[in-house]
Amino acid sequence: MLKVERLNVFYGVIHALHDVTFHVDKGEIVTLIGANGAGKTSILHAISGLIPYSADTVDFAQQSIKKTPAHTLVENGLVHVPEGRRVFASMSVMENLEMGAYTRKDTQIERDLELVFKHFPRLKERTRQLAGTLSGGEQQMLAIGRALMSNPKLIMMDEPSMGLSPILVQEIFSIIVDINKTGTTVLLVEQNAHMALSIANRAYVLETGDIVKEGKAHDLLADDEVKKAYLGT
Ligand code: ATP
Repeated sequence: MLKVERLNVFYGVIHALHDVTFHVDKGEIVTLIGANGAGKTSILHAISGLIPYSADTVDFAQQSIKKTPAHTLVENGLVHVPEGRRVFASMSVMENLEMGAYTRKDTQIERDLELVFKHFPRLKERTRQLAGTLSGGEQQMLAIGRALMSNPKLIMMDEPSMGLSPILVQEIFSIIVDINKTGTTVLLVEQNAHMALSIANRAYVLETGDIVKEGKAHDLLADDEVKKAYLGT
């Protein structure tokens, strides 16, 4: 579904990503894990066309998206939930969700709204509340819910666990599994390697701009180097 080959990103003289190559198949949860500054966010920003990059291949659903603007990507089924839950603070929960569907011309928007409320009952109780007054966890839910309102084939999430309490992290990750079960492919960028590896099918480990390991998430959870570097065990 997503194929990235030899992706390179420079910030001035800093070479932040070096020939990064990975893929995500339909139906999978794939995670990119790595320490602070490893380049995880840069990968998502590049795929979404938010920063300049060079690459041999960036294909989504077998089409090159190297020159595709972000709004067209959303129309085509590729959506990005950025780090730090950028909800529209002065708009209500419902208005934020409606914004997520603004590129759609089909008649299934109501159905998807119900699906979002099924994943996040807390949002249904708060449709009129201003997004800026939601708790951090609720804002993360809204950011994901808004992305789901575009009816994506692939959802890319950047650090959904950031700043959340352990209980909320559990809740968000179990919702990510549910979202995947309802047919959406997931690319998950995380510093919380333990949680990410425990829900993903496959994973890539990123170190200072290089993919240094890849494999089944289950195997990486048991890998000594990964355990030592990322799992604190
Ligand atoms: P984090 O988890 O802290 O967000 P990350 O793995 O997502 O880290 P990136 O944010 O992609 O990493 O950063 C990769 C490297 O690129 C870092 O060394 C960072 O300092 C650098 N970098 C990122 N954005 C910029 C920028 N706009 N200008 C200069 N350097 C940048």
